[in-house]
Amino acid sequence: MQYRDYGKTGKKVSMLGFGAMRFSEVDNHDKCVEMIVHAARGGINYFDTAPGYFETRSETVCGKGFAELRRQGLPYYVSTKTFQSNESEIRREIEASLKRLDVPAIDFYHIWCVTSLENWKERKNQGIIKTFQKLKEEKLINHICVSTHLIQNNIAELFTESVFEGVLFGYSAYNFKTREKAFDVVQQKNLGAVVMNPLGGGLIPGNPELCRFLLKSGEECNKENAVKVALQFLWDHKPLSVALVGFANKEEIDLALSAAETHTPRTEAELATAKANASKSFEGICTGCSYCDDCPQEIPIPKFMDAYNRKILEQDEQNIYNQLKWHWNLSSEVAGTCSQCGSCESVCTQHLNIIERLEYIAKNAPK
Ligand code: SF4
Ligand code: SF4
Repeated sequence: MQYRDYGKTGKKVSMLGFGAMRFSEVDNHDKCVEMIVHAARGGINYFDTAPGYFETRSETVCGKGFAELRRQGLPYYVSTKTFQSNESEIRREIEASLKRLDVPAIDFYHIWCVTSLENWKERKNQGIIKTFQKLKEEKLINHICVSTHLIQNNIAELFTESVFEGVLFGYSAYNFKTREKAFDVVQQKNLGAVVMNPLGGGLIPGNPELCRFLLKSGEECNKENAVKVALQFLWDHKPLSVALVGFANKEEIDLALSAAETHTPRTEAELATAKANASKSFEGICTGCSYCDDCPQEIPIPKFMDAYNRKILEQDEQNIYNQLKWHWNLSSEVAGTCSQCGSCESVCTQHLNIIERLEYIAKNAPK
C-alpha cells in the first residue's frame, strides 16, 4: 500500500480508503467488523463514514471496528461529516458521532455536502467556520474539511476558502472533466484530497467496455479489470491523497487492494493521453461537465442527462426515473418544460441531442 500526504497536516493516508456506505449486511456487526479489520490488515488506514449512512448504523459498526483495530494495534484515521450549520446542532451531532464511533476525536471532520455557493454562504452566515475552529481548539476534531458535488469554477472557488485542510469530492474516469479544476486548488493550497464515487456509482463495473482504453495489452476486458484500471487512473493524479471505495464485502476489498498493489504510475504525458481516450470512450454519454447548465427554463440539464445515461448504459428505461427520484430528487415533469431554444445543444461538449432526450424522459415517465 502506498501512503500519501494528506495536504500539509503531516498525516500519511493510504491511497485507498474505506467508504462505509455500502456494507451489504450493516446489521451483521461481526461481519462489518471483520471487513474493517481485513481492510486495515491490507494497509487501509482511512475510514470514511457519516451520521446519515444506514440511519446511523454505519458510525456504530465503524466504532466497533475501530475498537477491534485498537485491540489489534492497527492504525486508522476517522473521517465523518455534519450537515448541520449552527453551533448547537453541530455540537449535538458531533457528540453523538463521537459516542457511536467510540473515539475521543474525529481526524477529518467534514462540512458535508455543500450544494451551491449560496448554500455555502448561508452556512457561513450561521457561523459554521467559527464553530469548526472551536471544535478544533477543543481537540474534538483534528482537521477541518469539506465535501461537495459542486463542479467547474464553483468547486475551485469553494476550495480556496482558507479554513479547509482537506476536501472530498466526486471524481472518476467517467466525469473527471467536471472537477479537474479542483486539483488546481488542491495543488496551490496543498490540501488533502479525497475522491469519492471513483467507479461512477457502479457505472464502470457495470460497463467494463467503457474502460477498455485503460487496459494494458493482453488484459481481459471484464468487471474486475475495469475496476482496477479505473482506480489506478485516479492514483495517477499526484495531488490525490485517497480514492474512497464503498465496500460491500471482503472480495471487493481484495480487488481494490490488488489494484493498489499492482499500480504503476503513469507519467503526466501518459495521463493526458488516458484522459483524451476517456473522452472518446464515453462518447454519447453525458460526462456532467455542465457547460450546458444555463437553461432559460431553469432545467438542471446535467442532472437529467446523467439520469438518461442510465438508459444507455444499463439498457433499462426505469433506471432514468430511479436516478431522477433517488439521486437527484427531481420530478420528470420538469423535462417537459423545455422550450427547445437549442442553446444547450450548441454548447454541449459531447454533442448530445439534449432536446430529444428531455422529450423522451417527459413522455415515458411512469404514471
Ligand atoms: S433547449 Fe430546452 S433544455 Fe436546452 S436550454 Fe433551451 S429550454 Fe433549456
Ligand atoms: S449535456 Fe453535454 S454539456 Fe451538458 S453536462 Fe452533459 S456532456 Fe456536458
